[in-house]
Parts: sequence; structure tokens; C-alpha cells
Amino acid sequence: MANHEDLFKKIIAHAKEYGFIFQSSEIYDGLSAVYDYGQYGSELKANIMDYWWKAMVQYHENIVGIDSAIFMHPRVWKASGHLEAFNDPLIDNKDSKKRYRADQLVEDHMAKIEQKVDKEVKKAKKRFGDEFDEEQFVTTHPRVLKYKEQIETINNRLVKDLENEDFDDLKKLIEELEIACPVSGSKNWTEVRQFNLMFSTQMGSVNEGANQIYLRPETAQGIFVNYLNVQKTGRMKIPFGIAQIGKAFRNEIVARQFIFRMREFEQMEMQYFVKPGTEMEWFEFWKNERVKWHKSLGIPDDKFRLHEHDKLAHYANAAYDIEFNFPMGFKELEGIHSRTNFDLSAHQNESGRKIQYYDNDTQDSYVPYVVETSIGLDRMFLAIITQAYTEEKLEDGSERVVMKIPPILAPIKAAVLPLVKKDGLPEKAREIMDNLKYDYMCHYEEKDTIGRRYRRMDAIGTPYSITVDHQTLEDNTVTIRERDSMKQDRIDIEKIPEILRDRLKPVKVD
Ligand code: ATP
Repeated sequence: MANHEDLFKKIIAHAKEYGFIFQSSEIYDGLSAVYDYGQYGSELKANIMDYWWKAMVQYHENIVGIDSAIFMHPRVWKASGHLEAFNDPLIDNKDSKKRYRADQLVEDHMAKIEQKVDKEVKKAKKRFGDEFDEEQFVTTHPRVLKYKEQIETINNRLVKDLENEDFDDLKKLIEELEIACPVSGSKNWTEVRQFNLMFSTQMGSVNEGANQIYLRPETAQGIFVNYLNVQKTGRMKIPFGIAQIGKAFRNEIVARQFIFRMREFEQMEMQYFVKPGTEMEWFEFWKNERVKWHKSLGIPDDKFRLHEHDKLAHYANAAYDIEFNFPMGFKELEGIHSRTNFDLSAHQNESGRKIQYYDNDTQDSYVPYVVETSIGLDRMFLAIITQAYTEEKLEDGSERVVMKIPPILAPIKAAVLPLVKKDGLPEKAREIMDNLKYDYMCHYEEKDTIGRRYRRMDAIGTPYSITVDHQTLEDNTVTIRERDSMKQDRIDIEKIPEILRDRLKPVKVD
């Protein structure tokens, strides 16, 4: 396969051509970093949501779900620290007029040095063949050690600058590393400034004394402010969790890389309320649980990496990212955060309401600690289509693009295809379609040659194509073609629901 950039372009083009993702307001030349999900994209997205919701809410008896509003009282954002601290350091290149996140310029620079390490390893592997001991090589080879030291020095300084909000030094660091603008190639930079990522708007007309309100930048606060409501009405006992799927909005400075970084996106979050002092145990538990969830979809282990945060968000005392190998490299897909009692305490102070849990057994009251799992639905979507996109050369010399989407997430589960549009075959196929469509998302198609119809189903990731031919009318059998192997079996019509049910069951990973 071609290089990564090429692969990314192909995935984006494929997503558009087959109705997965369109640019928002495309007929007006689009709106930057905002996307719409098309007919197959919205199905895939809904299936990812469902898979997550079931794993988190349905399979855990002590986790419940809510659906809170996007608009919240402005004091929520004061209490949560977002008004004060939800900022990114930005820097502009004076020649290209392009805006970047200063910390990301430095991170990209470190990634380039990391690539040099990888190159050395590859070279050595080739030279030494079977004898090669990678562990020994990366811990002793002078050039590799030098690169690693460079990365560490840069990273330490970056973390310190961000923690101390020392933006003068961050600019100095960019200059010392001689980082150039990827567009203009120049090193002519502005100062580094803080930029708040929240979108704001007015509620009520101006005459009525309008209130400035914000579009929520995370779904978590909707859960925190409902903690008491849910705990009381659901008679929840600690430890317990509240889950939510919903839109979040961030005025990202560098909004590029397709649906990886959007200005309007969706989060799937779960806040788990625990007794203070037990949070690290639960942090470990949820880290493992979430990794298992990803693996249950059959994605290979080497596509994931766990990354521990050096710089913690203002609310956290421990944080891990589950990173996925996207076309542009390993990047954050999901965050597991130990948020302490920061948010509930802050809301307690700001609202003047007592937000505490009374433990009947020990008879003490406390503000619960929180461990959260937070995954971007759109990023999960991107991970799935990245992993699924496959170009194959077939034995007869032809080529196909097949989306090897995990069957449980596939937009369409089965296609029902009469071989020809006559001789009573469409009527028979319709019968099968009508039988299946109440249980599964199915697609009926009679146009085009059967080969073309199979290719189209491959391109949208349909795991099964059921073909009705003349023999069907004689013995009530059909051929069922499996997407990945392209194997075709002749089966009894009655067997179809059973086959689909078996293949579309969620897989449990322990
Ligand atoms: P990043 O460092 O990439 O900006 P973050 O650390 O700010 O992400 P969190 O605040 O932890 O992200 O949000 C939780 C999850 O929400 C992320 O793991 C990611 O999957 C998703 N997410 C965050 N920002 C965006 C965005 N702009 N577009 C799409 N998904 C996003």
C-alpha cells in the first residue's frame, strides 16, 4: 500500500463516494472541521454508539445512562474551570498566516526524532537479521540514545512550560528547535497566546437582558450536575457509574485531519463514582475494561498503545490515553482519567448545594471521587474505517476495495439480491427481504450485474450477500456470500436468520 498520506486520502475519498461522510454545507464550499454523516455513516455511527452503550450500561448493573442538554447554566463552566483554564496555546506564522497549536508543533518535532529512531532500528534489523536484539539495540546504540535524550529534554521543557504557562519560553523552544511552518517553510512566528476553546452564544433576546451561554465542550459536566438526581432517584450505591453519549463543541485552533479533530463532535463518556482512596484501583480496572472493549471488535493488539500523560489536566490526578494507529500515526482515541473530587467539590462550592454521598455501612459522608472513560465517537468511527479499508488483488487479476468492518458494526448486515430481474426471482427475494428487515438492517438491490452488486456491498462493508437464483424456486435454497473470504455457500432459506444471529453476536473478551 502507498504511503500513509495516500492511504488517508483514499479513506476520505471512499467515505464520501460511498455515503459515509460528507463535508458540512458542501454546496457552499464546506464549513471547516464540521462533517455530516451520510446514509451508511449514520448507520455505522449508530451501531458504534449501541455497542458502547450496551457494554457500559446494559452489561454493568451499576451503571445507568442519561441524556443531558447541551446548554447549561454558565456558572457550570466557572465551577468546572473551563472558563479559566480550557485554553490552548496558539501561535501564528506571519508569512503563511496559518495558526498552529504551539504544543503540537513541538510534539510533531519530537515525533520526527522518534521516526529517526525507528529508521535506525529498521536498518539494524536488516543488517543483523535473526541475531537482532531490539531491546539491547535501543538501550545501547549511541545514535539512538542521543535521539532519545533529545526527545526527553524537549518533552521535559514542554511539560514545564505548559504547566507554568510560560509562553515566552515555549516560543523560545520553538525557535531553538528551528521549527518551520509546514506551509510557508518560514520560522517567522508571532508570540504564543492563550485561546479559549469554548463557543459562546446568547440566550434570550438582547432586550430581555441576554445571558452569555456556552456550547458544552464536554459531556461530563451534564453528569456531574445530575449526580444527586441520579443517585437519589436511582437509589445508586457507590461505586456506580453514569454514562452519556452526546455532542460537544470546541473551537479547535488546528482543525484538520478529517473527523479526527472537529469543532462539533460526539463523546461517549462514563463517570464512575467511587470512595476516596479507592480511585487508583478503579482507574486500573477501567483502563483494562476499555482496552478489552476495543479488542472485542477484533482489531489487532498492535494497533493500540497506552500512553500515560505527563501533563495532567487541571482536574486529574492520573490519566491514560488509549492511542490508535490512525493513518497519521498513533493518536489519542480514548482517555481514562482519575478526576478526583474536583468537579463535584467545585459544583458544591459554586452552587451552595451539598453534593455528598452518605455511606450507610460506615455511616460517613464524603464527596465521591471520579474515574472517567471518555471516547470520541467520531474518532472511533475513524479508527474503524481506517482498520476496515482494504485494497485486494483477486486471483482473476481484478481488484476490489472491501471495508472489513466488524460485522456487528456494519451499516448493512445483509444484501438480498435476485440474480436476474425476471422469472419470479425478485418476488422470492422480496419475501426474504421482508422476513429479515425487521431484525436486521438489510439492503435489496436488483440493478446491475451480480458481480457489480457484490463489489458495492464490499465497499460499504456488508458482511453477507444473499443471492436468489432459479434453483431457489425449485428447492428453497440461496447462496450466501461472505464478504471477507468471498466464499459462497448454498443454504436453506430457513437457515439465514440463524447464520446472521451467530455472526452478529457481540464477542466477549476476558
Ligand atoms: P486532544 O488532545 O486530541 O485535543 P483531548 O485530550 O482534549 O484531545 P478529551 O478532552 O480527553 O480530549 O476528550 C475525550 C475524547 O474526546 C478524546 O479522547 C477524543 O476521542 C474526543 N475528542 C476530543 N476533542 C475532539 C475533537 N475536536 N474532535 C473529535 N473528537 C474529539
